[in-house]
Amino acid sequence: MLDHTPKEIKERKAVVINPAKTCQPLGATYAALGIHRCLPHSHGSQGCQMYFRGHLNRHFREPAEASTSSFTEGASVFGGMANLKTAINNVFHIYDPDMIAIHTTCLSETIGDDLPTIIRSSEKPEGKYIIHANTPSYVGSHILGFANMTAAAIRYLSAKTGAPNGKILLVPGFVNPGDMREIKRIMKAMGVDYTMLPDTTGVMDAPLTGNYHIFPDGGTRIEDIIDAGNCLATVALGQFASGAAARELENRCGVAPHIMDTPMSIDVMDDFLMLLSRLTGREIPAELEEERGQIIDIMADLHQHYFGKRVALFGDPDIMIGLTGFLLELGMIPAFVLTGSPSNDFEKRVNALLAKAGVAGRAKAAGDLFALHQWIKNEPVDLLIGNTYGKYIARAEDIPFVRVGFPIMDRGVHSYQPVVGYRGLMRLLELMGNALLERQERDAKDEDIELIM
Ligand code: SF4
Repeated sequence: MLDHTPKEIKERKAVVINPAKTCQPLGATYAALGIHRCLPHSHGSQGCQMYFRGHLNRHFREPAEASTSSFTEGASVFGGMANLKTAINNVFHIYDPDMIAIHTTCLSETIGDDLPTIIRSSEKPEGKYIIHANTPSYVGSHILGFANMTAAAIRYLSAKTGAPNGKILLVPGFVNPGDMREIKRIMKAMGVDYTMLPDTTGVMDAPLTGNYHIFPDGGTRIEDIIDAGNCLATVALGQFASGAAARELENRCGVAPHIMDTPMSIDVMDDFLMLLSRLTGREIPAELEEERGQIIDIMADLHQHYFGKRVALFGDPDIMIGLTGFLLELGMIPAFVLTGSPSNDFEKRVNALLAKAGVAGRAKAAGDLFALHQWIKNEPVDLLIGNTYGKYIARAEDIPFVRVGFPIMDRGVHSYQPVVGYRGLMRLLELMGNALLERQERDAKDEDIELIM
């Protein structure tokens, strides 16, 4: 399908072809789904919310319940205040959430609807909450929307009461429930008390029981978000998706922020455990040390399959930075690292990792898949890593392809399996190793097929 992508690269500023990101409200919706009994609400037209829910449904294969202000021509001309007030009233009376998390869209931002004023003048039942985040879609990406909604939850709710709770506020970033479960397992193994915000476990990976609940059991409890102001520290995994929440809690309640990369490499995972140990005085347990030893053992056993392989990777900035670190630890060459999210820091961060490892590669923020495809045409790679949209490039260039990131809409189970922590790295190693070895076997002559690889 992409057979006609030209090899010759021309300067291009005014058009994006095959974007490598989605829009802010999608990330805000995902963050809000990670709060218990919270209904995400999109202040815009129905089509926008259809798109966010559709993408989330297809990636997680779960319902993504959300409401919308249902803009039509009238709201577009006169503003969406009446629609939002009606929506708030309807949502509380029909669906009975404990909280509505409102995000804006292109249209409501362009109109200039004043959400704080509309929310203040809306009626809400006793003991219920309304929060909002401004998420203009022509700025940033779904990652900024996720960051804005997570920070909004803290801004609206968190309070310092002077009674320290000894907990860590853990902000996991825009990752799958499978990753969040893995991070929780690590926290439990460390014996550290924590609140995870947001927490989509039990929501976007809820079991099939035969009974439908609009609000599943999972999600961060509102009382824990309020109590986050009494936390010992915030540990934010991924500066792009989680940094804003950590800074917000520092500004509001003076909770010390520790913003680090997503733990997708040995280096960062070690730092994560040592940080937890330093903050809480807890020893790193033998169970986690054993896992670290296992991953090192696997890397040593299989290094010949990875070493020197050229990789192109694209996706969300925190995931790309984490993955770049791991590829370099494996002796692989992250030849092209691209994110669709605009950022001043992304290229600097990736280039610093490449320079430290003495590897030549190219990093790009606000890039698109057309550019990535052209780079690959000019300088072929051995492996492509990214979300579902990468499969067209993989097919056109006949490259082994590993699906990591968001959205993955053409495979299942991925959202239950981690790519973070030592266990997540094992899974990445298996995915990448299998893709490379299957290609090697596919292309081998009969006489070169080995039983043992
Ligand atoms: S880019 Fe704007 S119009 Fe399109 S789905 Fe996102 S919010 Fe709606």
